[in-house]
This record gives sequence, structure tokens and C-alpha cells, in this order.
Amino acid sequence: MIIDTHCHLDDARYKDDIDEVITRAKAEGINRFIIPGADPQTLERAVELSELYDEVYFAVGVHPYDAQNYDKSFLEKFVSHPKCVAIGECGLDYFRLPESEEKIKEEKALQKRIFIEQIMWAKELKLPLIVHVRDSSEDSFSILNEYAGEEGGVLHCYNANEVLLKLSSKNFYYGIGGVLTFKNAKKLINVYPKIPKERLVLETDAPYLTPHPYRGKRNEPSYIAYIVGKMENLSSVEENVIARETTENAKRLFFKIT
Ligand SMILES: [Zn+2]
Repeated sequence: MIIDTHCHLDDARYKDDIDEVITRAKAEGINRFIIPGADPQTLERAVELSELYDEVYFAVGVHPYDAQNYDKSFLEKFVSHPKCVAIGECGLDYFRLPESEEKIKEEKALQKRIFIEQIMWAKELKLPLIVHVRDSSEDSFSILNEYAGEEGGVLHCYNANEVLLKLSSKNFYYGIGGVLTFKNAKKLINVYPKIPKERLVLETDAPYLTPHPYRGKRNEPSYIAYIVGKMENLSSVEENVIARETTENAKRLFFKIT
């Protein structure tokens, strides 16, 4: 059994063949999927999928690029659903910032405020966080270090530097995805061996970040095999052991199964 802890199955790119996508993934041993909340507009689709498929769970939250659309009273309707397992993906993304100094300041302040709100909410609900970190390791670290609750969470989009590894002592996990298979993934390849193995989880971020050799095409959970293959190469831990350990980790974090 493998868990894809981060796949946007509510994305419109799957609307015509979601059944095939899930069937192909199950044939590869993936039998649990978590849809992170990113765009509030597709949340209803995520809920619908979680009701159609036993294997599908979801999270509620707003991506940093959508921070201005954060509306807690709308999102609140979804968190008590039995298949809601986390808050997120929330976080900080400084990859695409506006031009002027002043606008940059505003944008960062907005992202931070909405990130902290979602962290506090997760703490109140006793749910783990799904955290998006891009070009923002230092700020993300200091906010999580100060505010995150004991439920911890997973750090996704891990192009991050080592400062984030310190969060493993605060119950944070590290999502490994297709980036690991990229030729230019030096940063992640260097950090990867330093992540404690009891803190690794698998994620595809489908339909984004498609692993080599399908890079450029639509990603889907069945491609997780390429990520696990690369992890085996880098660590000489066998694929089936990686699958077992990452699944145990994801169960502990999202499903409180130890
Ligand atoms: Zn994502």
C-alpha cells in the first residue's frame, strides 16, 4: 500500500478520466490519496470525489497564491467532513513576487497573515498542516517554529534549504515528489539523505511536477513509482521498504494510525 499525500485530483484536467487515473494508480499499489485544498473553487469537487471513492481524502485550505481569497466562513463548512484530514495547502511562496518594494512587502505580509491564520485554525481543530514552501525557507521556518501545534504537518514543494529540517523535532514530515527525478534537482538531492526516514512521505503534486521521463506531461499518482525508484537509487533502501515506511509515516501523520 502506498499513499499519495498530495495530488490535486479535483483539478479540471482530470474531469474526463478520473476513474482511469485512480484505476491506474491502484494498479501501481497506490490506494490512498489526499487532495490538498488550494483553490476554494474546486473544494466541492474534492468533497465529491472523497464521497465517490473510499480511497480519496481531502484537506481544506488556501494556497499562498490565493491568500486574498481566504474566507474562513466558507471553508468552515468542509472541515467537519469525516474525510477532511488536514489544513492546507497553506504557506509562503516568494517565487512570483510583484515588482515594487512596497508591493513585495504587502504581498509577503498578506501571505504571512493568512498562513498564520490557517496554522492557528489547524491547532484548534487538532489537524496536521500541509505546508507549501517555495523560496521562503527562513520565513516559513520561523512562523512554523513559533505557531505550529503538536499535530505538525508535512512540508510540500521541498526546494527548501536545511533550516526546515529542524522542524522534524516539531512533528513535521517531508513530502518527496517528482522534483527528485529532475536533472537540476541538486538541492533536494543533497538534502534528501539528511531527512530522517521516519519523516519521509510520498507526494506527486499531480497534475504538476511530473517526474522524469514524463516531465512536461500531465502528472498523475501512478507515476509515484518513478519517485520511489529514484529514492532507491539515492539511498540503496529497497523500493518495497521505502513504500512501507512512507506509508507508515503518512498513516501516523494523517490518520493517527501507529
Ligand atoms: Zn500542491
